[in-house]
Amino acid sequence: MGKLDERAFAATVAGCKKCDAKVFEVATFIDRKVAVMLGEPQDDGRWTHDGKNFIDGIYRVQCVRCRGEQFASATCPRCDRGRLSDVIGKPSRMAVPKRCPGCKGVHLTVTGFAPAVLRIGERRPASPTPTALFGHPSFHIAQIVCETCDWVTVAEGCPLCANAGPLRPRPA
Ligand SMILES: [Zn+2]
Ligand SMILES: [Zn+2]
Ligand SMILES: [Zn+2]
Repeated sequence: MGKLDERAFAATVAGCKKCDAKVFEVATFIDRKVAVMLGEPQDDGRWTHDGKNFIDGIYRVQCVRCRGEQFASATCPRCDRGRLSDVIGKPSRMAVPKRCPGCKGVHLTVTGFAPAVLRIGERRPASPTPTALFGHPSFHIAQIVCETCDWVTVAEGCPLCANAGPLRPRPA
């Protein structure tokens, strides 16, 4: 379990503690899948998280009106052990090979954690906006899968902060 569960999150965004506004900017790390060919991303990727994982990865909730922080965590949102400062702005520790080491295929699928922001409390909740894409600092690769054979590799320890782990379970 992360720092916030669904109940704690609902209470956090019920109203600003300072100004009583009800629109918040939420910052989180969530799962994003990207198609890669010869080491180059073929698109911006797509989200593959669910609502519980969205809440699980939250590290900041800020009031849009007064900028007051409703919630802020300084620890890694995936393992709760490392520091957030070892996650944000840091490059991914996993490199993507140009070709699959197993079959020399060029099509790999990368799953990673991307930082994202989303406004909560507005009439129509939008999709989270990624603030870093594959290949940029703060996008952390967790898994690489070959599309042609069964080769797969996963990050050692925590994919976000590189702490040795263990990772905490995510909500089911
Ligand atoms: Zn406020
Ligand atoms: Zn392969
Ligand atoms: Zn971590």
